[in-house]
Amino acid sequence: MIVPFRVTFFYRLLVLTLVVGFTVQPAAASSPAAANGIVAPAAGDVVRGVVAVNGVAHTADFAKWQLDLLPGDDASNAVFLGVGETAAPAASKLAQFDSARFPDGAYKLRLRVVRRDGNYEEHFTAITIANTGPVPASQPATVSPARLVSNRAAALGLPTHSAEDQPIIYLTFDDGPSSVFTPQIVDLLARYDAQATFFVIGVHVRRALAALRPVAEAGHTIANHTLSHKSLAGRSQQAFAGELQATEELVAASVGDLLPADHAFRYLRPPGGGVDANTISYAAKLGYKVVGWDIDPKDWRRPGAAAIASSVIQRAFPGAIVVLHDGGGANQQTVVAVETILQELGQQGYVFRALP
Ligand SMILES: [Zn+2]
Repeated sequence: MIVPFRVTFFYRLLVLTLVVGFTVQPAAASSPAAANGIVAPAAGDVVRGVVAVNGVAHTADFAKWQLDLLPGDDASNAVFLGVGETAAPAASKLAQFDSARFPDGAYKLRLRVVRRDGNYEEHFTAITIANTGPVPASQPATVSPARLVSNRAAALGLPTHSAEDQPIIYLTFDDGPSSVFTPQIVDLLARYDAQATFFVIGVHVRRALAALRPVAEAGHTIANHTLSHKSLAGRSQQAFAGELQATEELVAASVGDLLPADHAFRYLRPPGGGVDANTISYAAKLGYKVVGWDIDPKDWRRPGAAAIASSVIQRAFPGAIVVLHDGGGANQQTVVAVETILQELGQQGYVFRALP
């Protein structure tokens, strides 16, 4: 059959119109920007255990979003849950928190969407935290039990609270000193009246002898992270002692005049956590306790300052030992994160102490 050109042309035009009409218009009409706010948990939900908070947060001139938990209606006691510098135009996971850290009761989640000029909008969702008592039928328990006291702090005989009953966080910085980042961190600690512990690598002390001086001048604890940063697992007792003593000598060469006459190194962090059956006894013979950590935000992977800070702030508990890095690479993200950690946990009532 011969189809006249004119018919074909109009048929094509019709198809084109239908296709255009069908694909473009409804798509444009059905994808308005999602409204900002918290999507889950929903208003009125009863939650327990670990709670993932999903939401939408975007705006013109977007700067950041911040998520907080308010006990009752009390905005003055807001607890920081998370912050992000990337807009979330569709519902996505903003933060996760362990509700077991909070007493049961009525709370509000507050999502702030902040513009670059500092103006912001706020969205609230009322929820109830209920971790004690029977599991509500509609809310299956999803949680690991909250670990409220550090096993490591207890093992090391460290207090979890100050004499004034403030919860303590032990910030520790590995792989330094760095002539770039260590002084910046010492400045921040001073600004927030915080003390910390620096697990230094001997070869880095040798490379940046002066970088350690602000650490000692501010009275922070200097601890041993070996000379070479090679694993201590499988090493002879002699090699083990050599790693520690060489670092002690380099620290003495750098800041010996600033340390008390009776100064002795007390804490060892094995590089990469590499230990064997002899590590604790070899360390003890040299007067050392082996120190691990409770919270590791893996700042060396450079996940972003906001992610580093959130990871520490959300998991903080009294007596927690936090591992961060002032040396061993470009640690500008860590410096930025440390300020957020000092601010937010300070507002929650935490104090920052060095290992004694
Ligand atoms: Zn290390």
